[in-house]
Amino acid sequence: MANPFDLSGKRALVTGANTGLGQAIAVSLAQAGAGIIAVGRSAMDETGDLVRKAGATFTEVRADLATLEPIARVMEEAGAGGRIDILVNNAGIIRRADAIDFTEADWDAVMDVNLKNTFFLTQAVARQMLPDGKGGKVINIASLLSFQGGIRIPSYTASKSGLAGLTKLLACEWASKGINVNAIAPGYFVTNNTSALRADPERSAAILGRIPAGHWGQPSELGGAAVFLAAPASDYVHGIVLPVDGGWLAR
Ligand code: NAP
Repeated sequence: MANPFDLSGKRALVTGANTGLGQAIAVSLAQAGAGIIAVGRSAMDETGDLVRKAGATFTEVRADLATLEPIARVMEEAGAGGRIDILVNNAGIIRRADAIDFTEADWDAVMDVNLKNTFFLTQAVARQMLPDGKGGKVINIASLLSFQGGIRIPSYTASKSGLAGLTKLLACEWASKGINVNAIAPGYFVTNNTSALRADPERSAAILGRIPAGHWGQPSELGGAAVFLAAPASDYVHGIVLPVDGGWLAR
């Protein structure tokens, strides 16, 4: 029987792949055999080295995903090397302030990257995936804030809760057409996204005290879930938001 986790011959587009979870996902997909197209606004040399070391091809596409403007060019450059089989919508930002003080600028900035751009990039990739009938895999990086409220991050919670809904809607529209749309909800991982939380001794201790696994997640601990949702192993899995959270939601 063929290895259900084998991604040989597949091409995966990963946004925000220069660092953190995006880098770890790119490396894990590469280790499973996929060629990587890394899309982001910063240099991705380190990710390129790690992906090539895993024996996979690496293409870098520079784009600021704060607006829809670069999407057509991203599709052109990413598609030049062949079909996109896997899309990982990982790029995301967070802005912290009490709800009572939250600004329109912080609302729009987060919604634009985390939700609006994610939808329209997914639409562009699906327009390429659908016509040839070969299907594909879309993986959205959601959050525990797709399930919970949190505090001091209103636009982030709205965007990630919205992303969970969008994941289900797209799964309902495209499951019968061979595209699997699913999401991963990371718990608390050691990346730039959580640096403010980890720098606050009180919040940091409170968070750690609630994680049954007893440690903050390391980015590499997310890779296996991404490989699963990118691989034939998940062909009958549609519209789920898979927590990878050290047991946080079980508490
Ligand atoms: P991170 O290190 O801050 O990574 C965020 C990534 O998104 C970076 O590559 C960043 O690029 C990219 N990005 C942000 N704005 C962009 C834009 N306008 N155009 C292009 N790329 C942009 O944090 P992370 O934890 O790895 O975050 C990755 C994803 O996981 C995010 O969607 C985040 O919400 C989600 N998540 C993280 C955690 C956690 O505990 N860390 C938990 C739940 C969900 P630059 O480096 O150039 O800014």
